[in-house]
Amino acid sequence: MYPLCIDTIEKIGGKTHSFVYEVGRRYIVCLEQKVCTCGRFQLDEISCAQTIVVLKSKNVTNMHPYCSDYYKLDALAKTYEVPMVPMLDKEDWSLSDNVLEETVLPPRYKRMFGRSWKRRKKCR
Ligand SMILES: [Zn+2]
Repeated sequence: MYPLCIDTIEKIGGKTHSFVYEVGRRYIVCLEQKVCTCGRFQLDEISCAQTIVVLKSKNVTNMHPYCSDYYKLDALAKTYEVPMVPMLDKEDWSLSDNVLEETVLPPRYKRMFGRSWKRRKKCR
């Protein structure tokens, strides 16, 4: 893993933007808007490596405000709040006659165009 460092900090549109450098790459992080040019901060709503570098430079130890509530323990507990009832034994299922008479078959095989996966050379 390559080290990340903050090169410059600029005010753009009244908001603080930190320019974070990784070998050959530059990312722009705005904590106020919760965006990073890598995309993970705004898409996954969790602090990316660049955001963590910026937060550490500001001596921020509580990163909870920069992480979505979906990743927190309360959200996990709410997921399993609803009771789950196991299904009855297959012998006890009540099915209508038309369902019982239905025969489910696998899809018909259709040869696809292109090189067969068996003939494909593996890259090394
Ligand atoms: Zn990022």
